Amino acid sequence: MNKIQNFTYHSHNNFGGVFDGRYSPEDMISAAEKLGFEAIGVSNHLIWHPNMPRSHSMFFKDFNQALDIYKRSLDCLDEIASKHNIKILKGFEVDFFPSKEWRNGFEKMLKELKIDYLIGSTHFIRTEDESQMWNIYHLDELPQGTTAEDMDYYLSNYWKNILAAISSGYFDFMAHLDYCTQFNLSTSPEWDEYKWQIIESLDKNKMPFEVNTSGISRIGRPFPDWWMVKELCRRQVPVLISDDAHYTEHLGRGFVEVEEKLREFNCLKRFKL
Ligand SMILES: [Zn+2]
Ligand SMILES: [Zn+2]
Repeated sequence: MNKIQNFTYHSHNNFGGVFDGRYSPEDMISAAEKLGFEAIGVSNHLIWHPNMPRSHSMFFKDFNQALDIYKRSLDCLDEIASKHNIKILKGFEVDFFPSKEWRNGFEKMLKELKIDYLIGSTHFIRTEDESQMWNIYHLDELPQGTTAEDMDYYLSNYWKNILAAISSGYFDFMAHLDYCTQFNLSTSPEWDEYKWQIIESLDKNKMPFEVNTSGISRIGRPFPDWWMVKELCRRQVPVLISDDAHYTEHLGRGFVEVEEKLREFNCLKRFKL
């Protein structure tokens, strides 16, 4: 029997009724412990931006409101940790934005949060100036009359956002690189140029990436697509497997299948905190 990664650094919960996980932090941690994981990283979404639409309880416009809930969600983990043997790591899955305004706010936030790691993420398409943004899950919120050209422009900003996140230096690893393909966005070959730029940039920055198994049940493959995983392994960019668990049942999903592929790709560099 070959060794299967026995931790996840990418899990969500429903702390405070704010975040999008289905279960409580305690439920998720207990389930990971029962599975025999040596560690669970708790990485609720950090989604703050002064121009953020408030279309979900975890999308924050207000800095102090966001910081307050983030702090309390971490305090709650300290409490749970005293009752469990599994190693609990405190992190966030951060929606990155390149503007000075966002960076200043984010850096101010970081000074107040005692965390172990950060995942770099992009869930929004947007205008270049960050005045308007739409979560890829909520594309029905795009204004009426949005054209195919508008979409191409918003999507190119999505890919540029990932590139800027990689080189920002804020993150320990990058989440689901081609996540938008789940919604049939950027699937045609003319978008490959951006995907190659991302591969190059991860390689150059020696930035680890995750193979996110949430795609397997949805579109039959993880994020990013296998060809990108293969190319990144060839370049020895460090990799980890993430279940992106929003439910206890998601913990460890797809790990066996991905381990097999990673062996096939002769992947030698594995990321661990
Ligand atoms: Zn995500
Ligand atoms: Zn996630």
